[in-house]
This record gives sequence, C-alpha cells and structure tokens, in this order.
Amino acid sequence: MYDFAYHKPSSVAEAVAILAADPEAKPISGGQTLLPALKHRLNRPSALIDLSGIAELKKVTQEGNEIVIGAMVKHYEVATNPLIKGAIPALAAMASTIGDTQVRNRGTMGGSCANNDPAADYPAAALALGATFVTDKRSIPAEEFFLGMFTTALEPDELLVAVRFPIPAKAGYAKMRNPASRYSMAGVFVAKTAQGVRVAVNGAGSSAFRRPEAEAALEANWSPEAVANLDQAADDLNSDIHGSAEYRAHLVKVMTKRAVIDAG
Ligand SMILES: Cc1cc2nc3c(=O)[nH]c(=O)nc-3n(C[C@H](O)[C@H](O)[C@H](O)COP(=O)(O)OP(=O)(O)OC[C@H]3O[C@@H](n4cnc5c(N)ncnc54)[C@H](O)[C@@H]3O)c2cc1C
Repeated sequence: MYDFAYHKPSSVAEAVAILAADPEAKPISGGQTLLPALKHRLNRPSALIDLSGIAELKKVTQEGNEIVIGAMVKHYEVATNPLIKGAIPALAAMASTIGDTQVRNRGTMGGSCANNDPAADYPAAALALGATFVTDKRSIPAEEFFLGMFTTALEPDELLVAVRFPIPAKAGYAKMRNPASRYSMAGVFVAKTAQGVRVAVNGAGSSAFRRPEAEAALEANWSPEAVANLDQAADDLNSDIHGSAEYRAHLVKVMTKRAVIDAG
C-alpha cells in the first residue's frame, strides 16, 4: 500500500469540497473493493475520503412512488429494511444474495454501483426498475450511468449520494451464483413498471444490459412460458475460467424465466 492522507467528513458538502480541492482523492465507502486494490498497489489515491461519518448518506426513505436509498446503505440493510421489503421485495431479496454475511455487513449500495463490477447485482436491478442516480451535481438515469466494465458516468470529483428506485407493480430476480465468490454468473431482474416491462441482465456481459426481446415478449404475455424458449445470443458475452459465453447465454434464458416466476 502507498501512503495516503485520510479524511472523515461529516457532510456531503464537506466531502465534495475535499474532492474538488484534490483530484487524486477517492471516496471510500465499505472498502470491500477499494482496500484490496490499494493493498495490491493497483490504485494510488492521494487521500481517502471516508464516507462512513455522513449520516445523510445512510437514509432509506419513500418519496412519492420512489424508494430513495442512500449511497452508504449497506447490503444487509437493503435486505432487511421494512420499507424496502414492503415496497420492492425483489430488491431486498436480491441484496440478501450478495456475497456472504460479512460482505453484506460491509459493502454498500453506492460503492457497488460506483464500482460497476460486471458481476455486481445492483446494476441489473437499477436498469430494470428504471432507477435514477443522484449525485451532488445532477440526476443520472440508470441507462446513462453504467457505461461499461468498472466504468460509470461519475466524474472523478462527483459523489454518488442516493439512488431513487420507482416502486414497480411486480418485480423478480434470479441469479446463478459462482459457488466460490457468490458473484453472479448470470442474473436477471424483471420488473413491470409504469414505463412498461423491463428486463436487465448482470454477470453475463462486460456491464449490465437490458434484454429488449424478453421485454417485448413479457409485455405481450406476462408469463414464464413467454420467455422460456427465448434464446440469448452469446456474442459479446463474457467467457472466462468460470464459464463460456455460450453457457452464460443459456443461463440468461433460464434466469429470465425464473425471475418471472419469482415475480409472480
Ligand atoms: C467475497 C466477496 C463477494 C462479493 N459478492 C458479491 C455479490 O455476490 N454481488 C455483488 O453485487 N457484489 C458482491 N461483492 C461486492 C461487494 O458487495 C461490494 O459492494 C463491492 O466490493 C464494493 O465495495 P464497497 O461497497 O465497500 O465500496 P468501496 O470498495 O469502498 O468503493 C468502491 C468504489 O466506489 C467508489 N465509491 C464508493 N462510494 C462512492 C460514492 N458515494 N460516490 C462515488 N464513488 C464512490 C470508491 O472510490 C471505489 O472506487 C462481493 C465482494 C466480496 C469481497
């Protein structure tokens, strides 16, 4: 690990001021990804801005038809919070599948989304539910937030503050976990929203993506049978030691059906 300065601000304004003054500084939430990167000397920030002292980033509220989840809310809280469980049970259930107990008690929704690991669970949920990412500067629709593998629309001096999830009529999630890491080999989140049916996939490609042909099939007929035989092309899917692109394409088909069954 290289040397770095350490800041622990108590407000978003204070954190943003530190970021603006030092372009090499980085926010740290749970440290689940960032700390190993620092330990391996893969990253060399001049300073870490510890977000754990900022109470406004830890709130879960309902505003109209949206559940607003602060960037520092941990996976464990998303999985167990009564408001989230009542309004978007599929989102809470999805959070309960992340890693293991230790990971869920440390990892945060904001850190996961800002990191945009291709196998992370939240990006598919955010795309399928039509979520909006709120930063200290602007609001970014999910489609414009996830730009590619480990890349988002966040500027280096921009802080993710919260994510706004519209409450769907129905939603469901299914994933095939890597048995070692518990990360998704392929996961599918389906939702019936005010904007229509939305289906999004994680784990299979370089970044989460929507599945328009499944959306059209479910729009016409919301049933597991409507997507049971809908093949996913393997082009552009990930191929690695854990599974081939063809295997992941098969998983996407099966997980789409299971997600619809989960949604009911
Ligand atoms: C063993 C293991 C298993 C896992 N399994 C899963 C799984 O099954 N599913 C899954 O989805 N995830 C999984 N994870 C990932 C985990 O859930 C964390 O969310 C992820 O590692 C990010 O960590 P963090 O939230 O602590 O963020 P950090 O490591 O603190 O930060 C990650 C990145 O986001 C940036 N950042 C953090 N907060 C903000 C903010 N508010 N604004 C702007 N930038 C910010 C940081 O600068 C850094 O670049 C697993 C992790 C481990 C170690």
